[in-house]
This record gives sequence, C-alpha cells and structure tokens, in this order.
Amino acid sequence: MPNILLTQRCVRSCPYCFAEKHMSESSPDDILSWENLIYLADFLQAAGERRFPILGGEPSLHPSFNDMIVYLLERNFDVHVFTSGVMSDRVLEEAASLFNHLPFERMSFICNLNDPSQTRTPLSELESVKRFLKTFGNRTVPGFNIYRTDFELDFLFQAINEFGMHRNIRLGLAHPILGKKNLFIRLKDIEAVIDRLFSYIPLFERLRVKPGLDCGFPLCRFKDDQLAWLLRNTGGRYDFGCGPVLDIGPDMTVWPCFPLSSFQKRSVFEFNTLKEIYDFYGDIHEKIKVEAGGIFFECDGCVFREERLCKGGCVAHSLGHFQEEARLRYPEVYL
Ligand code: SF4
Ligand code: SF4
Repeated sequence: MPNILLTQRCVRSCPYCFAEKHMSESSPDDILSWENLIYLADFLQAAGERRFPILGGEPSLHPSFNDMIVYLLERNFDVHVFTSGVMSDRVLEEAASLFNHLPFERMSFICNLNDPSQTRTPLSELESVKRFLKTFGNRTVPGFNIYRTDFELDFLFQAINEFGMHRNIRLGLAHPILGKKNLFIRLKDIEAVIDRLFSYIPLFERLRVKPGLDCGFPLCRFKDDQLAWLLRNTGGRYDFGCGPVLDIGPDMTVWPCFPLSSFQKRSVFEFNTLKEIYDFYGDIHEKIKVEAGGIFFECDGCVFREERLCKGGCVAHSLGHFQEEARLRYPEVYL
C-alpha cells in the first residue's frame, strides 16, 4: 500500500526522521495538486486498493487537507493520516466537524509521539499535540520511533490512557538514511533495544496495549520467550519483512521507502499499474539482498531467510556496509 505525501513541509525536526533526506531536497512549496490526487485515486482504485494512507511532512499543512480527505472518503477509500499532531486550530476544528462521526475504520490517524523528557520539544508543540489528541485521541494509533537505546515508553502509556488512544502501538526501529546522518539504531544495539522493549511487557499486559512492529526488525535478535509472547499477543500478525513500501511525493515521484529514497526515483506516470511499480522496486530490493546480503554475516544460509520468515533486516543497513562498492557495481541504482 503506497503512502501518498500531500506535502513535504513539516513543523518538527525529529533526529531520526526517515523523511528528512527527501524533504531537505524538495521545494518547500511542493504540494500535491487536485489533478494528481484524482489521478492517484483512480490509479489505486484500478489496483483494487481500498485504503488511502496520507503522509507528509505534516499533511495538514496542505491548504486543501480536509477537502482532499472528504473527496477520498466520498470515493469510498478508508483514509489513514500520518500526522505529527501539530495542526492549526482552524484545520483541527474543521476536521473534527467533518470526521469525528465516522467509524474508526473509515478515517483514522497515526500520530508519532516523541518522549518530551528525551527531546527538546517546544512547549507550543506539546500543547498543539495535546489539543489534537483531545479532539481525535479515540481515532488515533500511537506511533513511536526507537532511535536510542535508553528509550522509555511510559509517556506513551500515559498518553494512551489520558486521551483514549487506540491500544495498538506502532513501533518503528530507526534505520539509517543513505547519504544522511540521522540517528538510528546500530546493528550491535538491536538486541538490547528488543530486550528493553520487552521489559515493558508487564505494562503492555496490565494496560492491554499491543505492540505492532514496523519493518526491519531481525527475527534472530528476539529470544524464544519474546517471540512466543509476540505470537500470543499479536495474533501472529508480525513479520520480519523489508519493503518495498512505496512512497509517492507531491510531484508524483515514487521511491521504495524513505531510507532508500536515493534509489531510482521514478515518476508514477512511467508505470501503467501499481503492480508494475511494486515489481520494479521489488526487483531492486531482491538484487541488493542477493549481492549485499542481510544485515548480519549469519544471514547467508540462515534457515529463517530460506523459509522467508525473515528478510534479513533493513536493506538500508546492508547497503551501509556495502555502499561504496555498490555505487561502482550498480551505478544504475544510484541515479
Ligand atoms: S529498507 Fe526495508 S526495512 Fe528498511 S525502511 Fe525500507 S522497507 Fe523498511
Ligand atoms: S535472515 Fe539474518 S536477520 Fe533474519 S533471522 Fe536470519 S540471520 Fe537474523
């Protein structure tokens, strides 16, 4: 399911941001036109997609944010908006009157929250996120990106309880963005991060909150009891995969995912179907995985990889080891 960026502009500057490389290279005025939104709605509908995930930057900075969501809902898409929660009062009030009566499945938010005790978040930003969660908490899935080993989740549990947020947390592991110096979790620290995550099991259980793991977690760094717990508590709905996810920018460029946004950016207009785009980037991922291997030495010959239970971690890591060589061997990939 591709994510559609309404705008590249953002109001925050998170140190782990996947989108940072891409946004820093884009024009701040870059916003999705109505014409292109309609084209994408047709394109996704032709592919049988029912969901329309909206991303930014901060998508509510698009001048037609609410109107575009109304249009997509009228076309029978379920709309999911990734937001920082920092919205103007005008947009927030209008959104509340338009969407707060809808079922969660039809229109929901995923709000990435940063721990205020570990980030220098301005007070005005915290107040704005609070206003958003007071309005839309019950249709918002909390998201959290892990980019340091001493992360804490207490503030998330607090927010879930205070604002009645959805009780599944989307947990992302911050990956390296090629060509950029973002903060991310080093391979040697992944096991410690997983152990720290599982130290919160008593709280997950007591508060009936479930963790949903995003892409790029390596299966072998979980202990047996941790895997068993995940299996029991997430209905087996976790996978140790790696894209391509597909992100489509406001100027209709498409790329496999933000950490790989240096790769073969293309235009949506070069493809006839969504499947063609997935096949195109899927082939590139496969090629890199064959040549660069997984993220660990032991990925070669790993039974989990052969059984396709684990894709060998985040390709952006593998390429980090391999980058200089890959530039020589795959010049076509680095266009
Ligand atoms: S390279 Fe794979 S694991 Fe890494 S961010 Fe992209 S899709 Fe996710
Ligand atoms: S493929 Fe690599 S990352 Fe995945 S389980 Fe095997 S060794 Fe670990």
